[in-house]
Amino acid sequence: MKNHSNATSSKNKHWKHAGCRWFCSTLLLFPLFNTPALANQPRLILQITVDQLRGDLPDKYMKNMGTGGFRYLKESGIWYANAHYGHANTETVVGHTSLATGADPAQHGMVSNVWFDRQSGKLVYNIEDSRYHVLSANADVDKRTEIDASQALASSDGRSPANIMVTTFSDELSLSTNGQAKIIAVSVKDRGAVTLAGHNGKAFWFSKSAGEFITSTYYYERYPDWVTDWNKKKKSDAYANQSWQLLHKQSSYMYGDEDDNSAEIDVAGFGRVFPHAYGPANSKYYTNFLTFSPAGDELTLDFAKAAIESEKLGQDDVTDFLAISFSSTDYVGHLFGPSSLEAEDNMLRLDLTLADLFAYVDKHIGLDNTLIVLSADHGGPETPQHWQKFGIDSGYVLPEEWDKSPSISRLKKRFGIGQALIQSFFPPYLYLNHKMIKDKGLILEEVQQAVADELMSIKGVALAVSSTTLNSNKLPDTYLNRAALRNFNSKRSGDILILFQPHYSINDFHGEKLAAVHGGPWEYDTFVPVVFAGGKIKQQRISRPIEPIDIAPTLAEIMKTNSPSRASGRPLQEVLQHYYPHQGKEKDAKEFSYI
Ligand SMILES: [Zn+2]
Repeated sequence: MKNHSNATSSKNKHWKHAGCRWFCSTLLLFPLFNTPALANQPRLILQITVDQLRGDLPDKYMKNMGTGGFRYLKESGIWYANAHYGHANTETVVGHTSLATGADPAQHGMVSNVWFDRQSGKLVYNIEDSRYHVLSANADVDKRTEIDASQALASSDGRSPANIMVTTFSDELSLSTNGQAKIIAVSVKDRGAVTLAGHNGKAFWFSKSAGEFITSTYYYERYPDWVTDWNKKKKSDAYANQSWQLLHKQSSYMYGDEDDNSAEIDVAGFGRVFPHAYGPANSKYYTNFLTFSPAGDELTLDFAKAAIESEKLGQDDVTDFLAISFSSTDYVGHLFGPSSLEAEDNMLRLDLTLADLFAYVDKHIGLDNTLIVLSADHGGPETPQHWQKFGIDSGYVLPEEWDKSPSISRLKKRFGIGQALIQSFFPPYLYLNHKMIKDKGLILEEVQQAVADELMSIKGVALAVSSTTLNSNKLPDTYLNRAALRNFNSKRSGDILILFQPHYSINDFHGEKLAAVHGGPWEYDTFVPVVFAGGKIKQQRISRPIEPIDIAPTLAEIMKTNSPSRASGRPLQEVLQHYYPHQGKEKDAKEFSYI
């Protein structure tokens, strides 16, 4: 039997109780019940997501890496070198949910980090849920110090997976074992954990206001003892008055001569050059600074180790699932760009963190008993300044100036309307003021189309398409239209989807400026690594195109569970053949998983 957590689970009773009395007595009668269905199956599935890890970055910085992290994955794993997302809005919650569900945002419903809910008239931060408050006092998002723009928009501290419209692989694993599989997800970002934990797992994330890993009442009525113990140790205080320093001699780095780069953002005094000082533990932005550096990943790893040990993950024949999402690469990419001394050093530190994790898993569970899958929720762009240096046209788009543009003025005149036409704009969706349009007796579809047409004439806009047009099934089969459709959910998507031309993006989020902003449909934003390692896997590098949504159906096939309820990815045969070598090799007919 599984060793049960001593915590009290509030939402789902399965893993805590799992009808233990019934199960235990049943096991005495039928001892074979709990033996693994298939001897080849791993004891632990370890799904790692590195936030904003563009597909080329591990190879680009591998020269100065050690042997136990990325190099281990490269030399022992199956590395898919041409994996791209197919949806238009390459944002964090969208990618994480696609990884978890094997589905497109059109189906899983997490179309954007923030959307406007027309029923309540409110903005919704993807996983917010006012019914399930966070467990710790003082752990609500502190809007005065929260620099994560989308998270700061949440109107409640509550968090749950309720807005995810389909099942995750972890849900299916849980269903297939009647709740016996232990499922845990950990991340600095709440949306990096809640998505992968699914509806029946346990999610923990880092509260910048409390400096602790927290959860919500969806998952527990009170913390498991091991979480309380970990938080009591105040590990985040260990970085007080320290700084993020270079791991190696500066001259050994590709970007060693380019530390002081004007494209970089000096946010809240964290600075543009090494060393980046964290300051005292009680200073306003201290915990933010930890997450903007490799320290955030180190804390995440430490907490994940405590989860492995305390919850005894991978210790018996019921396969467990641990998801870890490392967030530092994303913050570093946003503030400094992926081609910066900071990004380069962060990659070397992440490599050490991964090596540490793999060594720990090997010692406690055995890498042979563990199936590792690593990917990212999205890629990321260079800074415009970096692209320009190489002769590539690039820049920021300024939506606040659209209102003054001649095309929008024409439109307002045509419909006889003022400022109130646009209700809100949260990239990539623009929401129109339906009430005003109705009150003026205008036809919504016509206004949508007219606004979309005018937006197409603005510099930097590659596609502006209305929800009515997306619903019409009359679009030509182009790359951008496919990406738009795969992101379109009629309940949540806005009136008009706006995509920018390559190398252009928005960089101003409510006054908070960033150096590089992902979220588009172009190669640099959609490109991520997909790597399987450990377990039965043998080294292979594969260049055929695949999609990250193929991961969940692959895991489902290894575990012989149902595929998540709207998974449209295809199982990856190169992985499966190591688990089921005698299984007939299916012809892979996939070209596009959509249409
Ligand atoms: Zn992200």
